[in-house]
Amino acid sequence: MITTTAFSGKRYAVLGLARSGMAAVESLLAGGAQVTAWDSREEPRRALEGRVELADPLNIDLTGYAGIVVSPGVPLNTHPIARVAEAAGVPVIGDIELFALARPQLPPHRVVGITGTNGKSTCTALVHHILQSAALPCRMGGNIGLPILGANPLDAGGVYVLELSSYQIDLTHSLHCEVAALLNITPDHLDRYDGFAGYAASKARLFAMQRPDQVAVFGMGDDETRAIAMREAARHEAGCVQSVDGQDLLALQAEWPSLQGPHNLQNAAVAVAIVEALGLTPAQWRPALASFRGLPHRMERVAEANGVLFINDSKATNPASTAPALAAFPPHPSRRVHWILGGLPKGDDLDECAPFFGNVAAAYTIGDAGPLFADLLGPYMPVTRSEMLCEAIQQAMAAAKPGDVVLLSPACASFDQFRDYEARGDTFRQIVQTLLSPEGSTAAIPGCA
Ligand code: ADP
Repeated sequence: MITTTAFSGKRYAVLGLARSGMAAVESLLAGGAQVTAWDSREEPRRALEGRVELADPLNIDLTGYAGIVVSPGVPLNTHPIARVAEAAGVPVIGDIELFALARPQLPPHRVVGITGTNGKSTCTALVHHILQSAALPCRMGGNIGLPILGANPLDAGGVYVLELSSYQIDLTHSLHCEVAALLNITPDHLDRYDGFAGYAASKARLFAMQRPDQVAVFGMGDDETRAIAMREAARHEAGCVQSVDGQDLLALQAEWPSLQGPHNLQNAAVAVAIVEALGLTPAQWRPALASFRGLPHRMERVAEANGVLFINDSKATNPASTAPALAAFPPHPSRRVHWILGGLPKGDDLDECAPFFGNVAAAYTIGDAGPLFADLLGPYMPVTRSEMLCEAIQQAMAAAKPGDVVLLSPACASFDQFRDYEARGDTFRQIVQTLLSPEGSTAAIPGCA
């Protein structure tokens, strides 16, 4: 576990006892802090009985507390804890801030922080894979994998690779990343911010926390990211800010089976700039880009049968992340894309996908956004109002000919019909594999007739 004597004798409150909250409690206790912990569920409270004070931080006097640790899922713009903490003069922080506080007592190491609207997990996993391939001690954490505080400290020379959502950045105040990267910014999560500018400002704070001699890497695909890069270039020392567009890597992309499409060129370009800033050479990163296997639910090939390819891109929860999935299949005489989309919409248009409508042979709409998307797409392509994922797959499968692609890239959140995007992608995989199996009956799959 990662901890520090800097917690010793201090009082912290931890609100939300899921995995990262529990790891925070353990780290704080091991460091000698007094902990007040709370979760609306009884089970995790019971697990901590006798070791912490169990009380809701909303109902206690917070004077003298060193911090309130909340989960990134707590909406700070509306949740009362933000107001209560402010009134008591107590900082609201997350587990990444505790990690930052513990850094001085860790063996010498470096931290890479990666943020962006889309591609964070892919880029983080890719950097981790390249470092592992180069035999550097490394660990990934933050928004991906296991809570970082629960991990054992790396040996000297290690690299912590952190995927940081804007919510996590909001809860972090003193993380100086040796290398920080911003892939892109497009409108998302606007329910949690004061407009697009507020969301972009949250991402920009990752760089504001850096020292001027630390490296900042930026994608070049959108105006907002370019604007932040310009501002950081004025603040950082010469040579410490890099903006990358991946054009120098374009000729190599054919070697990377799991990094196809323009979005993955961006992810690879940022990853390469990060690892070069850490001192790796092309001889080290080049084979690792080729051996990277990708992550589930991101352009994941789940099956190929009768010449039809089935792709699960359930993680595409907004139109900006679906656009590159469509772009990955330029029109081809013997290939047609059957696009399954819909769910809980993030907005009322598909403008970002529009440049690639010509790549789609037919659309199959599902979920809450189904009727809206069917109306939007109707003028451009044949649309089937499938409503349910199972129907959509069956209809797409029936229409697909050898060479075609059936693509689930919903451009929406999943919560109208599924627990989360993973459950949606797993269901897609399960239905496809069942329909392709000799039994072929989906009767046992929830939501299928
Ligand atoms: P995040 O962790 O930021 O949500 P992921 O790597 O999990 O990002 O990818 C999420 C979705 O966004 C996937 O559907 C993927 O195809 C798409 N995507 C990945 N990288 C990018 C990028 N650089 N730009 C736009 N979309 C991307």
